[in-house]
Amino acid sequence: MKIKKLKLSGFKSFVEPAELRIERGLTGVVGPNGCGKSNLLEAIRWVMGENSPKSMRSGGMEDVIFAGTAQRPPRDFAEVVLQCEDSDNEELEVTRRIERGAGSAYRVNGRDVRAKDIALVFADAATGAHSPALVSQGKIAGIITAKPAERRQMLEEAAGIAGLHVRRKDAESKLRQTEANLARLEDLMAGLD
Ligand code: ATP
Repeated sequence: MKIKKLKLSGFKSFVEPAELRIERGLTGVVGPNGCGKSNLLEAIRWVMGENSPKSMRSGGMEDVIFAGTAQRPPRDFAEVVLQCEDSDNEELEVTRRIERGAGSAYRVNGRDVRAKDIALVFADAATGAHSPALVSQGKIAGIITAKPAERRQMLEEAAGIAGLHVRRKDAESKLRQTEANLARLEDLMAGLD
């Protein structure tokens, strides 16, 4: 999957709508300390479904919304759009929006989808919010010292089979539900005898 463009509005320090085009080859983002470079990587993770405030360097999920400054009032929402191209050269536009008090919502190519669908889209494309390809500051040492289970996760993702785990969890939960329904049905039938 190729990331082509990142659009932000009201996300962390990006109060005004901003666009980052990621062209073929190397794209560099330069700027003084605290200007928001790491916030860009966090925006990519967030639109891919990241739900841990800690990995967003936040206390709570709503903290990704522009909090205001002495000169500017806070925003009510944050929105991040990621434009990508999948391995079949199909355009994919993923949007995540969070509103104060209303939680997050996702869209893929303009259609409302569930967080679970987003996890599958990126897992099938061998990437995602926890992809080892997204390397934050200080993470290199973490990758080198990763435990075998974490290393396995990286290999599975590189092999493009991470999506199977998400589907397996889903299938297992459906199976448990069906077993519970069957047990209930057997109880009811026993009552009819
Ligand atoms: P460095 O080079 O020091 O790593 P950086 O360019 O990566 O810095 P970031 O860490 O991405 O910068 O940006 C931090 C800035 O984002 C801080 O100024 C912080 O106040 C601002 N910021 C973070 N969350 C919010 C928010 N919710 N509202 C407004 N500003 C925010």
